[in-house]
Amino acid sequence: MAIITNHMPTEELQALDAAHHMHPFSNGDELSAKGARVITRAKGVTLTDSEGVELLDAMAGLWCVNIGYGRDELADVAARQMRELPYYNTFFQTTHVPVIALSQRLAELAPGDLNHVFYAGSGSEANDTNIRMVRTYWAEKGKPTKSIIISRKNAYHGSSVGSGSLGGMTPMHAQGGLPIPDIHHINQPNWWAEGGDMSPEEFGLARARELEEAINELGEDRVAAFIAEPIQGAGGVIVPPETYWPEIQRICDKYEILLIADEVICGFGRTGNWFGSQTLNIRPHIMTIAKGLSSGYAPIGGSIVCDEVAEVINACEFNHGYTYSGHPVAAAVALENLRILDEEKIVEKGAAETAPYLKEKWEALTDHPLVGEAKIVGFMGSIALTPDKAARAKFASDPGTVGYICRERCFANKLVMRHVGDRMIISPPLVISKSEIDTLIDRAHQSLDECYARIKDEGLL
Ligand code: PMP
Repeated sequence: MAIITNHMPTEELQALDAAHHMHPFSNGDELSAKGARVITRAKGVTLTDSEGVELLDAMAGLWCVNIGYGRDELADVAARQMRELPYYNTFFQTTHVPVIALSQRLAELAPGDLNHVFYAGSGSEANDTNIRMVRTYWAEKGKPTKSIIISRKNAYHGSSVGSGSLGGMTPMHAQGGLPIPDIHHINQPNWWAEGGDMSPEEFGLARARELEEAINELGEDRVAAFIAEPIQGAGGVIVPPETYWPEIQRICDKYEILLIADEVICGFGRTGNWFGSQTLNIRPHIMTIAKGLSSGYAPIGGSIVCDEVAEVINACEFNHGYTYSGHPVAAAVALENLRILDEEKIVEKGAAETAPYLKEKWEALTDHPLVGEAKIVGFMGSIALTPDKAARAKFASDPGTVGYICRERCFANKLVMRHVGDRMIISPPLVISKSEIDTLIDRAHQSLDECYARIKDEGLL
């Protein structure tokens, strides 16, 4: 059996990867032909690949490495916990210290009366829990017809059959028989792309009122919950107009439907507060968490549930759970991550010092001829690429063509920035320094220049 290590030539690693590893959200043949980039180590905000190239990771992995890479404390806690109790389940009237401690801490951190945690291994699994939990809640309250969950087009809530159905991604719904029944999608509050002649404020209200229209059309007695990301992440970091969330909150209150805030990206400091619900001033009944909960060091997710819903669910037998619900090693790692976020004041200092600096530099990118709008809240930002800013025009090429070119230029300039269609997005570790922000912006600028030159040459402008 071959021993495969970091020291093997890149081409050999790529060939083995292509032969045996199927990548998520990828065209396997195209990737094999190109060769996947092999990441070998990381520290702070910097990734190193198998060729020794150092990249600034402006995506914090997949929006998750909030405390930055390479924190020994998390490795030490994981090793200690593995030696003491590497695994035990929480199904059969048993519990363990890491899960007790983490739940207590999350109840302390979460706003309002969100005091109870149901664990999962990921954000997708947690949203699957939420589907079953809100339907069970209404059934237990004698209203079993309230089973419809309203979500939004271009939302991302995960990739399992349930969470992928909650999401509003057309390419995902096109494969594998999604969505499941009783999921309804309304339009997203994406003013740049869909706002037409309305002001952002008018548009925000109009899009929020689609929730009320949907409840009235479907029937109040049929609707269980509304789910949304406080700020859409994978959909392109779409920051809603200021009028949007207050109106959504009003409608949820009026019709007494449950509000699920998917905090998988927005949670744990990403928007400048512990939770996006605090930044956007919303009062969810359930928050989905994952990613920044452990800064990605261990796979763990969950649902933080309010007193009222927990009381109803706890009074029945909820036939749901995962082998790794409340996994002791993942729970211990998450708890240590929360300790570091708190004690090093990463959330507060990030919000007070580095996030405003990043915002100023990021918004200045609108000086570039390709950049229409620049949006940023805390440490999640996006820019819209456009051939004509005043008209908020789209490129004539297929959506994503220019975004992809820009992303490739970013990689060439040692910056990991992602594209969603023709929007470029960032979500760096919260520990990014001001000088690293300067580097990020310089590289983004350079990449935009190169992208601009290239699309001019190719007649895409
Ligand atoms: N919800 C949101 C808002 C997400 O961004 C994601 C992942 N990007 C998920 C859920 C799914 O999480 P996971 O990939 O851990 O299943």
